[in-house]
Amino acid sequence: MGKIHEECGVFGIMTPQPENLAHLTYCGLFALQHRGQEGAGITVNDDGVFTTHKDLGLVDHVFPPQVLSGFPNGTMAVGHTRYGTTGGNQRRNCQPMEVNHQKGKMALVHNGNLSNAGRLRSVLEQRGAIFHTTSDTEIIAYLITQARLQTDSIEDAVRLAVPQLEGAFSLIVMSAQKLIAVRDPHGFRPLCIGRRQNGGFVLASESCALNAVGAAFLRDVEPGEMIVLTPDGEMLSDRRYAGTSPKRICIFEYIYFARPDSVLDGVSVHTARKKAGALLAQSHPADADVVIGVPDSGLDAALGFAEASGIPYGIGLIKNKYIGRTFIAPSQSERDSGVQLKLSPIRETVEGKRIVLIDDSIVRGTTSRRIVTLLRNAGAAEIHMRISSPPFLHPCYYGTDIDSEENLIACHHTVEEIAEIIGADSLGFLPAASLPHLADSDGICTACFTGDYPTAVENDESKDRFERKIHG
Ligand code: SF4
Repeated sequence: MGKIHEECGVFGIMTPQPENLAHLTYCGLFALQHRGQEGAGITVNDDGVFTTHKDLGLVDHVFPPQVLSGFPNGTMAVGHTRYGTTGGNQRRNCQPMEVNHQKGKMALVHNGNLSNAGRLRSVLEQRGAIFHTTSDTEIIAYLITQARLQTDSIEDAVRLAVPQLEGAFSLIVMSAQKLIAVRDPHGFRPLCIGRRQNGGFVLASESCALNAVGAAFLRDVEPGEMIVLTPDGEMLSDRRYAGTSPKRICIFEYIYFARPDSVLDGVSVHTARKKAGALLAQSHPADADVVIGVPDSGLDAALGFAEASGIPYGIGLIKNKYIGRTFIAPSQSERDSGVQLKLSPIRETVEGKRIVLIDDSIVRGTTSRRIVTLLRNAGAAEIHMRISSPPFLHPCYYGTDIDSEENLIACHHTVEEIAEIIGADSLGFLPAASLPHLADSDGICTACFTGDYPTAVENDESKDRFERKIHG
């Protein structure tokens, strides 16, 4: 594992008159590609008739023009980009998850992981449920369809099902008539809503996807809120379905996952990253000639470090924008060659210089070691690595692949030892106490850094989770 991966991006759209929503959903998913690169899917709703296409691969691979043109026009659509780890990267786990039930149809997209998935699955299996995927999303779909049998509307079914879920879920549910957005009571994963000029609505994991389809940002879906969009253009909000829980948005969304042009819960990701860099300059200053960032997510923090320290900002590493995900996931040898293909040093910036090198995180240390080696080979005199997050010390149960502690370098080595392993002259991490300043809030999850989990974590189930790599 070189980098931490987000599990998913979700997108939904509703429009007053039928139009080519497959194309708009494609544009939205393209903007959310960074949240999941291993699978994508779209379901278009044409007057209650659902058309779905989903497969493994990047959005533009899954949806070439001949596939996109095969979708009918519709008044609603949902889409999904997915990241799946070993064992979870299967075609059948791709979303949207389409379900036919006694009272109609439903398509569901989900970002996050349930922390009680193992218990729910086993209870439901004991009651006779048969699951076809290893995804948490199927558990949610099952609970909603079961609840639908007892209720008069899809929103009542969602209201009945969702309180059984624990952990992280930003969901979009599409029925024949309605589009429903739900964010878990802690709001681990972002979800926002936008308005189109024609009166239609757009739902998306990040505001950058609203921009991509020309929708204006309306507001975030609040933690614990359910929003129902109706064919009459109404937007109904229910903030009471889940009771009250403290907000805990994932701080790593700001540090790494989200796109810098997104605004999550009122906080600009770009600004949060710059702030992390500035705080890092205060807590871990360095004598150096130039500050450079590891593209892409280290760049904003590098700018913040440079501004706060007065050390000039430089472009020292270039990312090959055309490299595919092939080099990121499958095997160690492919990952080894991937760093050289992905990043290239600019000798003019680094040769003979004392460098502050900013990256967003260190997981195993292998990627950092390769980057430091690249810069040394390009003539860097000193490399002072600064990390815009604290060390990872604990697994994440809320929708990312921060894995068991045995794979986290900071669980086994001191900062000085890590500096030696990666070949840096010095190393400094953002202090955990600085994290609330990034989002201007205490309402953040910091569990993978601090061990302070906002929900109960079922240990056996969680262990099982990491063995089976279930992801939604
Ligand atoms: Fe985010 Fe870490 Fe919390 Fe997971 S444990 S939700 S990655 S802050």
